[in-house]
Amino acid sequence: MPLKENLLSIKNTFINTNCLLIAVSKTHPASSIREIYDLGHRDFGENKVQELTDKAAQLPQDIRWHMIGHLQRNKVKYIAPFVFLIHGVDSLKLLQEIDKQAEKNNRIISCLLQVHIAEEESKFGFSEEELMDLIHSEELKALNNIKIIGLMGMATYTENVAKVRKEFAGLKSLFEKLKALDLSGNVDMKVLSMGMSGDYLIAQEEGSTMVRIGSAIFGERNYN
Ligand SMILES: *Cc1c(COP(=O)(O)O)cnc(C)c1O
Repeated sequence: MPLKENLLSIKNTFINTNCLLIAVSKTHPASSIREIYDLGHRDFGENKVQELTDKAAQLPQDIRWHMIGHLQRNKVKYIAPFVFLIHGVDSLKLLQEIDKQAEKNNRIISCLLQVHIAEEESKFGFSEEELMDLIHSEELKALNNIKIIGLMGMATYTENVAKVRKEFAGLKSLFEKLKALDLSGNVDMKVLSMGMSGDYLIAQEEGSTMVRIGSAIFGERNYN
């Protein structure tokens, strides 16, 4: 199916029409992004810094680029001038580097803290306890050029719907818990990024405000 139909049919299934769709374009060419862009879509996600900066250079300036992958500290500087939202922040050290690079670029960079909700070891993120420590730390308060606007999580890759639902529900309840706290000025919990091609409907049922969808729009990825 052409990309346009894919995008529209996904949007038609949304349970929450206010949920923001991030079109995950990793491994797909700039020309495919352009097709989706021409339909009025502006939010795109990539998981590698090099690929993100290459594509950003070839495409219109008003695209909102979401860095959704694991981000290495030494690469923050390449995306700091323009990135719209960093989804996978998983350490204080990374946050400090983002803050430093944001200051150099005279901006405030929005970030999501990644929470480890899946069973798989391979997925990154904070435990609930680590997250609570970070949220209340003096080190976090000292950062003036970042804004934490929410949480991100990836469920276990499984056919077991009940399990996926439970993981998303756990993240949602942590999100609500944080929202209810009186946190420092650079934390404002409003975004819950959860859900991908295979599980975005479950994620929306459990309260997702942002879904990251790749293969259901662009087709299967070809890694070489
Ligand atoms: C690749 C990726 C996605 C999209 O995955 P699909 O299953 O193709 O929709 C979402 N989130 C992250 C963090 C990813 O790396």
